Amino acid sequence: MVAAWDCIRERFGAYSLVLPGTPSFICQPNLCTAHCCHAFSVNMGEAEASRMARETGMALVQFLELEEGDPITLPLAQPFLLAREGGHCRFLGPELGCTIYAGRPNACRLYPHFVIFLDTATGKVTTPPPEDGRRAVDALLAGQSSSPVPLLLGHVECPGFIGDPLPEASWRTLLEATYQLQYEEL
Ligand code: SF4
Repeated sequence: MVAAWDCIRERFGAYSLVLPGTPSFICQPNLCTAHCCHAFSVNMGEAEASRMARETGMALVQFLELEEGDPITLPLAQPFLLAREGGHCRFLGPELGCTIYAGRPNACRLYPHFVIFLDTATGKVTTPPPEDGRRAVDALLAGQSSSPVPLLLGHVECPGFIGDPLPEASWRTLLEATYQLQYEEL
């Protein structure tokens, strides 16, 4: 993983490689005044929007950006946009807490972690077909080498990487959960 990361780290200056032993993430909304809930517009796919509707008890029109009363649908795999208001997500509370925490979107669940894949043959980042991505993650978790190589990254601007060093088992759980949220639960 370290060798694969070294191939691309200069082009990914906003991220760092998360390995066993990296300080774990603990959300610090008051240190950054919930920067992520202000700065990022959250996209979501149909299955995810349905899951949110189920878990929050809200109708789609209550939590998605609308146009003439209907959810905006962008020409993307994740076509819906979480509603914003006043320069931040509509569900950011006055105390900088998420008011729909249990049902929050996948992007909010995985942030500040991301999984990318490096094709070792080309030295480039790639988006593998789902079965190849799953195979690569399973191989890595089984201690086997594979290409593409999955890399678990953290957003360096996030001030939350101040926890105890990640134990190996927690790192494995985090890699699996981040991969699932990002690639398998759209
Ligand atoms: S849903 Fe919650 S965690 Fe996600 S952007 Fe909105 S306030 Fe932040």
